Amino acid sequence: MQPIVEIKGLRKSFGTHEVLKGIDLTVQPGEVVAIIGRSGSGKSTLLRCINGLEAFQEGSLTVDGKPLIHGDPNAMRALRQRVGMIFQSFNLFPHLSAGRNIMLAPGLVKRKVSSEAADQARGLLARVGLTDKFDAMPDRLSGGQQQRVAIARALAMEPAVLLCDEITSALDPELVGEVLRVVESLAEEGMTLLMVTHEMSFARKVSDRLIFMHQGRVHEMGSPDELFAAPKTPELRQFLSSLH
Ligand code: ADP
Ligand code: MG
Repeated sequence: MQPIVEIKGLRKSFGTHEVLKGIDLTVQPGEVVAIIGRSGSGKSTLLRCINGLEAFQEGSLTVDGKPLIHGDPNAMRALRQRVGMIFQSFNLFPHLSAGRNIMLAPGLVKRKVSSEAADQARGLLARVGLTDKFDAMPDRLSGGQQQRVAIARALAMEPAVLLCDEITSALDPELVGEVLRVVESLAEEGMTLLMVTHEMSFARKVSDRLIFMHQGRVHEMGSPDELFAAPKTPELRQFLSSLH
């Protein structure tokens, strides 16, 4: 089976500060991989490299068989179409309705005809539990609803992999559950997911594989039960105990 994400020897520096020190990571179709680790360990930078937002100095990266080649606009476009990303801040366009936010990307990039895009947007809103919100403006939606629209918008591109970077961190606690339930349903439907999260019980429940990043390296990797129950390194042990 061709991996969805294949990263070999990835190194990334900002100036003289090396923040990713040789990352090897393969994600198979349908796999759900959670990334945990202290702030500053390089989790966001890794996701940003995967969707081409950050250039890196060494190593190789392919998504769905397509290599990332910086400076090659066609390769970058092909890559971005295969990768969906959701951030902590929802970044919806404030002047567009929920439905229009979702329609925008497929309309521009894939040149879908509008009625088809609207049907697709309605379907995606239903999938994230917002059937009646097509015409709602972002400022009329709760943070949890906005984040679910952002998920629907990412899905509209039919990505091969969805990258989630702490997507519940900015939400009021009572709104976290509704967003996690959507992510869980995507996992159950077979979506390939790579997610950075602070929600440890969620990571343990939903992910097939857990990665602990520490100082720019994959420090431990394994099944979530293994890592939570029996961390092998003092760094992971310390990280887990700092959470309680
Ligand atoms: P995490 O998501 O695990 O908290 P990040 O990937 O955001 O970590 O950051 C890893 C390191 O890279 C940190 O030391 C951070 O300060 C640095 N860094 C991140 N983005 C930039 C940037 N655009 N310019 C310079 N340094 C950066
Ligand atoms: Mg981060």
